Amino acid sequence: MTKKVLVLPGDGIGPEVVAEAAAVLDCLRTDYGLAVELEYGLVGGAAYDVHGLPLPEETVRLAHEADAVLLGAVGGHQWESLPIALRPEKALLGLRATLGVFANLRPAVLYPQLASASSLRADVVAGLDIMIVRELTGGIYFGEPRGVRTLANGERQGFNTLVYSESEIERVAVRAFEIARTRARKVCSVDKANVLEATELWREVVTRVAGRYPDVTLAHMYVDNAAMQLVRAPKQFDVIVTTNMFGDILSDEAAMLTGSIGMLPSASLNETGRGLYEPIHGSAPDIAGQGVANPLATILSVAMMLRYSLEEPILAGRVEQAVGAVLDQGLRTADIQREGQPRVTTGEMGEAVVAALRARLS
Ligand code: NAD
Repeated sequence: MTKKVLVLPGDGIGPEVVAEAAAVLDCLRTDYGLAVELEYGLVGGAAYDVHGLPLPEETVRLAHEADAVLLGAVGGHQWESLPIALRPEKALLGLRATLGVFANLRPAVLYPQLASASSLRADVVAGLDIMIVRELTGGIYFGEPRGVRTLANGERQGFNTLVYSESEIERVAVRAFEIARTRARKVCSVDKANVLEATELWREVVTRVAGRYPDVTLAHMYVDNAAMQLVRAPKQFDVIVTTNMFGDILSDEAAMLTGSIGMLPSASLNETGRGLYEPIHGSAPDIAGQGVANPLATILSVAMMLRYSLEEPILAGRVEQAVGAVLDQGLRTADIQREGQPRVTTGEMGEAVVAALRARLS
């Protein structure tokens, strides 16, 4: 059966990198027989400019009809003065919530060819392969009550609520253990159980879930220590499972271990395997329109889509191998370029990946 993919290019470099990822999907369709149909929609600032809303009804409808959504990025200076509810970034939270994508998978993988691009010593990061599983639809980013109130003495007070129910913790923990079974079978659960009751419950539930996975080793770590360990000895980690806010921060830290934010994909999954796939970077207004953005994070997001939503693990591997092949050829966009290496544009990098995919067939 033909699978439907909704493509949401978004703002800034989003359309540039998504065009290359869509070309990869198109190559898989024409050359590898992948039964996939692409539809396009508006999101973020691009949607606001047309409909006055960052996440129009039409986009929500298309997202629900699709098997997977490929998103570029949203945001830009021109929309920064809008009220929060109309800002492009609001569309991300809305899409995640409406699709119920509670598990955000962010791999931090260091391609050996890029070891020198990391800010850490090559021996500390060589072979790095971490999967961060971040809870995405709960916790302090969604908890109520929230807001800014004025106290009796006239002073204003901001407040948010960190809240997790057992079922929310359990389903993301299950996802982490299942993924660990396809990898090195180690899960590290990150919390702040010594201070926050909500994460004391988090620790208890994750420990209970671990009982169903005797073949996977579970460790617990406080978030401050985890932040330190990620730069001290990152290779100790296999799968990290953590709350929405801790995962937000730790996954960006882990991303930098690999050298460039332009290399890292992500997947956000719901119970049924439907997913939202996007590079972890933003819309990069500083380089938008110049053709210099690295499209590999978005192309690798397509590989994750093939693996987790389209049930095409072999094609997922092909895309990852094609990315490895272009790096072997020495092709580098500006963000991962070192002296003496040829610099390619966004389009040239995308074309090289498609050529590498085709080369495997000839
Ligand atoms: P950013 O990720 O857009 O950019 C950070 C830095 O990384 C910039 O110097 C940028 O040029 C560089 N960079 C990012 N992606 C790159 C790529 N593919 N190739 C080469 N270099 C790349 O983060 P920011 O500057 O903090 O935010 C810019 C806008 O993006 C803001 O409006 C922000 O709200 C939005 N944002 C959106 C998302 C999303 O759509 N998921 C995520 C983060 C930020």
